[in-house]
Amino acid sequence: MAHITDQANACVAALHPYQPGKPVSELQRELGLTRISKLASNENPLGPSPLVAEAIRGELTETARYPDGNGFALKTALAAKHGVELSQITLGNGSNDVLDIIARVFLGPERSGMFSQYGFAVYPISIQAVGANAQVIPAKDYGHDLDAMLAQIDDSTRVVFIANPNNPTGTSLGVDAIDRFLHAVPDGVVVVLDEAYIEYTDSDFPDGTRWLANHPNLIVTRTFSKAYGLASMRVGYALSSAAIADLLNRVRQPFNVNSIALAAACAALCDADFLSESVALNTQGMAQFEAGFSKLGLDWIPSVGNFITVDLGRDAAPLFDALLALGVIVRPVGNYGLPNHLRISIGTEEENAHCIEALTTVLAG
Ligand SMILES: *Cc1c(COP(=O)(O)O)cnc(C)c1O
Repeated sequence: MAHITDQANACVAALHPYQPGKPVSELQRELGLTRISKLASNENPLGPSPLVAEAIRGELTETARYPDGNGFALKTALAAKHGVELSQITLGNGSNDVLDIIARVFLGPERSGMFSQYGFAVYPISIQAVGANAQVIPAKDYGHDLDAMLAQIDDSTRVVFIANPNNPTGTSLGVDAIDRFLHAVPDGVVVVLDEAYIEYTDSDFPDGTRWLANHPNLIVTRTFSKAYGLASMRVGYALSSAAIADLLNRVRQPFNVNSIALAAACAALCDADFLSESVALNTQGMAQFEAGFSKLGLDWIPSVGNFITVDLGRDAAPLFDALLALGVIVRPVGNYGLPNHLRISIGTEEENAHCIEALTTVLAG
């Protein structure tokens, strides 16, 4: 007898689902712990800006109505922020949604999507879900090897996904490297610069929007999930040529960003002080972890994001479990081919201290 699961598209049957960070409530339920530090999903430890709660409250009586499917208010604010036209913006239910939309527009059977070894785990899912082939290019020093990626582009390649900074390694690419890549890439290949962590980087860090005017095949993606502290609201967006945005908006669900999320994102954009405070806390926390790792004799991958991936020099899986028992949730990255590493999101000073203390205990035990 045919089993219903045999009826799934082969590309879907072969997919490995995304593994999210363990929720705090789950660990509470399982172990009954009271002190839990979740440093697993690169969230803002300060929460969202206080302006966000106010904006959300203002929307609570409007939920019987469909949201503005064009997201006019948010797009207007984003257009001003980035110096682009409204017609160049595609809103997403998180930037993950935008990545899926890109795959649905440009990928499919007989086509390939390219990304780097240690690239973001969502890329293979988006690529394979539409029946396309994944071209995974070996990394260089845990980061993107753009020359190798260029060399591997073939007639089937339609989209190249590049996270800058990269998750889970925190590595980054400079202006010249990206500039050279964009000039060398064939016109018919879409380049996605995923800038989920750009708010945490220095002022000389390449902002992908600088290339939009001259590269109609470029898509820059951003999110409100990280520095803006809105991970649960699910808001992200793509900036591109108007021609690409038109294509993306054809397959976008008409109401993919809800009204509460739209209002929250608008409010978050208004609070520059909160963003600076979040970035400053991250800088301090990064130094705190680096000092802690040094003391423990551990190596790490230098990161420009809001997380740091540490090399424990042995199988990290049992240490991950031991950390959980002590109330510290971090992220195993064995699924990325980094079985000895753990990715740790930068938290508050107290959460970071909890993590370093727990790490000291489990490494000694
Ligand atoms: C977190 C993250 C995203 C953003 O995901 P959302 O769907 O916007 O929450 C995108 N790209 C990378 C590399 C990330 O780490």
